[in-house]
Amino acid sequence: MKDQRITEEAKRRLDSLFEAFSIVAEETQVFLCNMEYDYSRWSKELVETFGLPSEYMYDAGLIWERHIHPDDRKAYREGLEDIFSGKQLGHDMQYRAKRLNGEYDICTCRGIVIVDESGKPFYFGGAIRNHSQRSHIDTLTGLRSQYGFFDDLKSYIHNKVPIRIGMAGVGKLAEINEVYGYHIGNMILQHFGRYLMEHVTNRGGSYRLDGSRFAIISTLLDEKQLAQSYEDMREHFRKGIKLDNLNIILELNAGMLSLNDFNVDDQTVYSCLNMAYEESKLNKHGDLVTFRNELTTESRKRLEMLHKIRASIAKDFSGFYLVYQPVVDAATEKLIGAEALLRWRNEEYGTVPPDIFIPFLEKDPLFPKLGEWIMETALRDAQKVMEYVPGFVINVNLSYAQMEKADFTDIVWNTVWRTGFPQEQLCLEVTERCRLLDMELLKNVIVTLRAGGIRIALDDFGTGFSSVGLVKNLPFDTIKIDRSFVQNIEQDEREKSLLNNFTDMASTYGAKVCVEGIETSGMCDIIRDYGVHSFQGYYYSKPLPIDEFMSRVENGPECFARAKQ
Ligand code: C2E
Ligand code: CA
Ligand code: CA
Repeated sequence: MKDQRITEEAKRRLDSLFEAFSIVAEETQVFLCNMEYDYSRWSKELVETFGLPSEYMYDAGLIWERHIHPDDRKAYREGLEDIFSGKQLGHDMQYRAKRLNGEYDICTCRGIVIVDESGKPFYFGGAIRNHSQRSHIDTLTGLRSQYGFFDDLKSYIHNKVPIRIGMAGVGKLAEINEVYGYHIGNMILQHFGRYLMEHVTNRGGSYRLDGSRFAIISTLLDEKQLAQSYEDMREHFRKGIKLDNLNIILELNAGMLSLNDFNVDDQTVYSCLNMAYEESKLNKHGDLVTFRNELTTESRKRLEMLHKIRASIAKDFSGFYLVYQPVVDAATEKLIGAEALLRWRNEEYGTVPPDIFIPFLEKDPLFPKLGEWIMETALRDAQKVMEYVPGFVINVNLSYAQMEKADFTDIVWNTVWRTGFPQEQLCLEVTERCRLLDMELLKNVIVTLRAGGIRIALDDFGTGFSSVGLVKNLPFDTIKIDRSFVQNIEQDEREKSLLNNFTDMASTYGAKVCVEGIETSGMCDIIRDYGVHSFQGYYYSKPLPIDEFMSRVENGPECFARAKQ
């Protein structure tokens, strides 16, 4: 610490230089130090985010050092010493800095030394870019970003302002990118953004959420007007837009909801809106779908329940548990594995099956945490079963939103290593819904996991349009045939020939076949002849909590066999 206090004149000069720095800084935060007095001014946002004592500080380098991660401190201190001793005139480093809430953000700090006429270091100034700081403006379209969307939504909820929210997006953008290139894809998004800005912004805020999805929030338009705006927009894009001598016809999807009940949080609202949007995309050919929560008692209760389920993820997953449904060898009926299935239970609602809440939670930022918990719990339970049935394979369901995360494979490996689980005995089930992901990304994930020994199954085969395409393009170990194809196999000849086609195709691609939904001995007898590898269904057992499952398993691998009973 220098013993001299800064003079008024020096402070005034520091301020004016600081202002100049701030103007050019854009998305970075600036600092400026008068080295003679070791007196600095730091931008307000840094002071607030990191809990620094004030915008004006003596000895700021030392104060900042206390916020830097202990492992990064030495490098930081050395860098700073070089600056103050005159050895270096520039500084460019990355470190982790602790925020007010105790979390670390990765920051890049770039600084330069400005010397006076005699060449003596005079100012040290620069910018700190906080990599975790989220921009409220989308750089491609100029609209507010999803962070802006959430900020605005939170404030409407907080102030109890009734609003209508619409989510609209361009269908098949991934394919457009593939056919015409990203350049055209980006131009389409820009065009879409501009359209929104021109047609709705005077009556509401417009936002780019992510990828091809946009949103508007309006306090003025009612549902009917919003629906009309969407139809106009659809018409406009259906006629085609002209880009680079091309006329590109675009199909849109959209969901909408009205918010009049302020007893919900922003994420719940977003999930409901998403559900409406996905419904429009998957089942309604782009027609506008309205999420109904007009406080009919039933839908309100449902929303409250979903809200509670969501909150349990943050509360140590309280209420969540797994049940296990055995998978048996089709020929011998010996236990070879089990599928882990998620449940949620609480006093008020009883046991809630996953179909009710998984589609709702899938896109929630908390979902990957739950996915990790499911995997870890399933692996630990499976280890107990393996003491009785050494080759036991545990199947864990994945949701497509989990796989989309950049660190998904790392999470899987970390869980496998943490539990010491033999990876060849883990099988991950992916569903048809995964086709919504980018095919290259999906392929990468699957190939990486398989290269490490993990097995991959395609779940619910036959229920979507692209089952066969998926099997052709992606290497699966097992194909699980959906129960809807075998429900009537005892009476229906067509189901038999379909099953035959499926098993033929699976064997062409080197995959085994598991048939789900076996409910009777008659079904087993017929299906066994079709080269099927394994069975799963109520005939053998309903999904069981781990204690019940274990008490069966203790009787050996034939514990679920029916033929000998
Ligand atoms: P799924 O993966 O196709 O799971 C099989 C579903 O069929 C289970 O329903 C199971 O109880 C039911 N089932 C099994 N045998 C029979 C039978 O013989 N007859 C009939 N009628 N049904 C049978 P459940 O447990 O309600 O799960 C529903 C869906 O929820 C699952 O379908 C899966 O897509 C999803 N899910 C369940 N657990 C998880 C999970 O941990 N993560 C993810 N991402 N999804 C899960
Ligand atoms: Ca499954
Ligand atoms: Ca299934």
